[in-house]
Amino acid sequence: MEVITASCAGACYGVKRALRLAERAAESGRPTQTLGPLIHNPQVVDRLAAKGVGVANAPAEVSGECVIIRSHGVTPQVRQDIEERGVSIIDATCPHVLRAQRAAKELAEEGRTVVVVGEKSHPEVEGLRAWAESVSDRVVVASDASELPADLHGPLGVVVQTTQRRAMLEDVLSKLDARGLDYVLEDTICNATSTRQSAAEELASTVDAMVVIGGHNSSNTTRLYEICSAISPRTFHIETPDELKREDFAGCKRVGVTAGASTPDDIIQEVVRVLSEEFDA
Ligand code: SF4
Repeated sequence: MEVITASCAGACYGVKRALRLAERAAESGRPTQTLGPLIHNPQVVDRLAAKGVGVANAPAEVSGECVIIRSHGVTPQVRQDIEERGVSIIDATCPHVLRAQRAAKELAEEGRTVVVVGEKSHPEVEGLRAWAESVSDRVVVASDASELPADLHGPLGVVVQTTQRRAMLEDVLSKLDARGLDYVLEDTICNATSTRQSAAEELASTVDAMVVIGGHNSSNTTRLYEICSAISPRTFHIETPDELKREDFAGCKRVGVTAGASTPDDIIQEVVRVLSEEFDA
C-alpha cells in the first residue's frame, strides 16, 4: 500500500516555533508553564507536562519562573498581569499574529474605527480587539459581513484574524464598498490554513482512502475532514495512531494522509509507518 502525505500537512510555522520554544524551556530545567494549553492536542500537552512544562490557565495561576505565551498572542492587560508577577516571558506569539496586533494598534492611532474581521471569542481576536482598544474605544468585531454595525462610519481600518478565509474578507470589503465607506485594509491573513486545505483536497481525489489526523475537538481538523470526506467517502479522522483500524483500509492501494495545525510531525510519521508497514497487505 502506497501512503502519501499531503504536500502541506500538520503544524504550521507558528505552532512549530511555539513547540520548539517549549521544548527548549523544558530542557533548561527552569519551572515553566504555558498560559493555556500550548496547542489543541492533548497528547502534546501531556508530553510537555511530563517534561515539566505545565499549564496555567490564567496569570493568577502562574507559579513557576517562566511563562510561555501561545502562538495566538495575548491582550496587553494579560501581558502586564504576567509581568507584574515577576516571571520571565517566553513569547511564542506567531510573528504573523504580532503583525496583526501592531496593525490593529496603529490603525487606532491613526484615528480610524478599527474593524476586526474574525471569530469574536477566539483568543487571537480578543487580542486584536484589545490592542486596538488600548488606543481607542472605536473598535468593532465582525465574524462576517452581516455583523457590520448599521451606524458604522469612516475612516475605518480593517484588520483580519490570521486564519480567516479570504472569501469572508472579500465579502466584508464588498459590503463596505457598497456602503461607500472609506477604509484602509491591513491584510493579515496567513495562508497556512488555505494551503493545507488545498493540498488535502488535491490528494483526496487521487487516493482510495484518506486519514485526517488531529484533535477530535479541533475545528481546523474537522474542516479538513469535511473537505476530504466530500471527495473520498473512505476518510477517517483520528487523533492518535492507535485509532487506525486495519479493516478500514482493506483493498486500498493508495492512502493519503493529512493533519491539522496542532499535529506534530512525529505523530504524522507514526501514522504513515503503521499504514505502510503494519497494514500493508
Ligand atoms: S496559522 Fe499562520 S498565523 Fe496562525 S500560528 Fe500558524 S503560521 Fe502563525
